[in-house]
Amino acid sequence: MKIIDILNEDRLSLSFEVFPPKTESSIESVREATEEIAKLKPSFMSVTYGAGGGTSRYTLDICKHIKDSYGVPTLEHLTCVSSTRDTVRQRIAEIKAAGIKNVMALRGDIPSELRDQDRSGWDYRHAIDLVLELKEADPDFCIGGACYPEIHPESADQREDIKYLKEKVDAGCSFLTTQMFFDNNLLYNFLYKIREAGITVPIVPGIMPITNANQVTRAIELSGSFVPQRFKSLVDKFGSNPAAMKQAGIAYATDQIIDLYANGITNVHVYSMNKPDVAEKIQSNLSHIIGK
Ligand code: FAD
Repeated sequence: MKIIDILNEDRLSLSFEVFPPKTESSIESVREATEEIAKLKPSFMSVTYGAGGGTSRYTLDICKHIKDSYGVPTLEHLTCVSSTRDTVRQRIAEIKAAGIKNVMALRGDIPSELRDQDRSGWDYRHAIDLVLELKEADPDFCIGGACYPEIHPESADQREDIKYLKEKVDAGCSFLTTQMFFDNNLLYNFLYKIREAGITVPIVPGIMPITNANQVTRAIELSGSFVPQRFKSLVDKFGSNPAAMKQAGIAYATDQIIDLYANGITNVHVYSMNKPDVAEKIQSNLSHIIGK
């Protein structure tokens, strides 16, 4: 099933993200975690793709397994920036052969050793290049793209970021998923601006449940997200008590999701990070709201 059809359904959707194993030794534990999350029957599941090839070879296997064994629609992430055209084309052919219809087209982060390189000769410089490649390979692919309520860190300003976002959507993205954020007002402001810029595709807010204090630092480093005082107080108070921090982090994410649904957002994606207990708790917290 295509993700865009799920997003356009006349009901609330809740989806989860998982990531592939980083090493051979964690294959089994990741498989168990993804299966537990699939058993919750989320609206769909996305599987990330390690930039630079680190863990990318497992992404397709996991997507196929979830789709074929659990009947859960899957969204395969694919990055392009540090890959050659041959590699990307090969990967797209494999995705197609596996019957996967949904692909999240990402640029990927530029490895630090390549950041100062002249990029003019690279096969792919931006996610839009991958969107075009996917459309050419199969016009029937349902393609998603990433977007940034707090601006992509490399953008000069939001106007420029939204200009390129519009070009990416016009090239063939059916929907956009946001970077994590901890203050819903940032999302509402962003939505206003992108709608004004003529971007009309569904936007899926990405919510990251922070369940331990170290994750806060990591999440902010990676995303540059603003952390509201309300959330900082929670980490200050419960950060040294893992069970309490987990409960508070899940409650905070649940609260964010309820506010989004209450304000007319119909689709929410949870960065569930291979944690079935967190996914299960969030879904059960919302059971009467999403009807599950
Ligand atoms: P782009 O859309 O190419 O944008 C990157 C920057 O380039 C922005 O500043 C943009 O404004 C600018 N830009 C875009 N087009 C142009 C243009 N034509 N000319 C000049 N500037 C331009 N990373 C992974 O490695 N694996 C994953 O699975 C993964 N999943 C993600 C899922 C989501 C929902 C999000 C939000 C991010 C994810 N990432 C993932 C991280 C992502 O790869 C990085 O944030 C990366 O730095 C940018 O990717 P992008 O696809 O947004 O790039």
